Amino acid sequence: MAYDVTFIPGDGTGPELAEATRRVLEATGVQFNWDRHEAGIDEYEKHGNPFPEETLESLKRNGIGIKGPTTTPVGSGFRSVNVLLRKELDLYACVRPCKAYEGVRTRFPETDLVVVRENTEDLYAGIEFERGTAANAQLRGALGELGASVREDAGISIKPISEFGSERIVRAAFDYAVTHGRAKVTAAHKANIMKFSDGLFLDVARRVAEDYPQIEFEDRIIDNLCNQLVTRPDEYEVIVLPNLYGDIVSDLCAGMIGGLGLAGGANIGTEAAVFEATHGSAPKYAGKNRMNPTALILSGIYMLEHLGEAEAAQRVEQALAAVIRAGDKVTYDLKPTRTDPTAVGTSDFADAVIEEMNA
Ligand code: NAD
Repeated sequence: MAYDVTFIPGDGTGPELAEATRRVLEATGVQFNWDRHEAGIDEYEKHGNPFPEETLESLKRNGIGIKGPTTTPVGSGFRSVNVLLRKELDLYACVRPCKAYEGVRTRFPETDLVVVRENTEDLYAGIEFERGTAANAQLRGALGELGASVREDAGISIKPISEFGSERIVRAAFDYAVTHGRAKVTAAHKANIMKFSDGLFLDVARRVAEDYPQIEFEDRIIDNLCNQLVTRPDEYEVIVLPNLYGDIVSDLCAGMIGGLGLAGGANIGTEAAVFEATHGSAPKYAGKNRMNPTALILSGIYMLEHLGEAEAAQRVEQALAAVIRAGDKVTYDLKPTRTDPTAVGTSDFADAVIEEMNA
């Protein structure tokens, strides 16, 4: 049986990374019908829309997609494809495994954890009131009546965290732990200060934890978590966080495992699952066959797992780990210096993984 998968190459370095990943996934012998659709700045320049309706329809139809990065120009009317995707498909869980592979230069070689970030609520909900506007004045007035005074010259961003949103993300974290043989879930928060948003998140997490007695549960205040991640990373397995903390901790953990080129991820929702790297489109390197495809290949591995193709996923991961460990056929970012003349290109790296898989 072939899997119908929406394939979005993206823009900038996206198409070359996506192509490398496609070749590696096909080399497993798993069959795919790639339903190729465009998104990103090139599509915007050609047809005036960065996220065409057909791309969205394809994702809804197939329920699964793999996506190269897409550029979001700063200071234009252009809406981020990633924000639209999350919204349209209700991709509420961003799952980012962070494992330090042998051969990567890192001060945190024992890191092997998974960040599960809530994707739809919190300070990212986009509920903002600009300083000096009528809406801002109205809100401050209402707050004043409730005994909460806010300075006249303040901009205001609202942080909604619901029981519904907390419950589904915490369940996603526990379900991930169960299906991936992880022993512990840690919920991170600042409930000591934000009692009614983070406090609610923590209450829900404690309640959900009772449904998973086989998985250990603990919570950490977010600042303490950051401190412990860089001192005792081996104590963490699955970390579940509200949106903003999740965003920051994801990048922290990507740094701990050796950089953006190594951080893959999955956005899981009620309508579909979209697999993509943490990094962006690195447009200045577009067409240069230079970027590390590991992050997108890892995302492809998570897609194979999601499809139930655990054996194929394991074969790709072992081959990838072997290529990184050997260190000769790797891209510039995995070499001792960024100008190392022995660095190979994106497609050569993919060839090395395929060769290792077939060895
Ligand atoms: P970026 O992640 O594209 O690149 C920053 C730097 O990180 C690069 O210059 C490069 O040195 C390094 N890097 C990134 N990926 C690498 C890889 N695979 N291999 C080796 N080195 C790698 O970040 P940016 O420059 O801030 O963003 C560029 C564009 O990407 C922006 O328009 C941004 O909005 C967009 N973006 C898209 C996504 C997405 O599509 N999911 C995510 C983040 C950023």
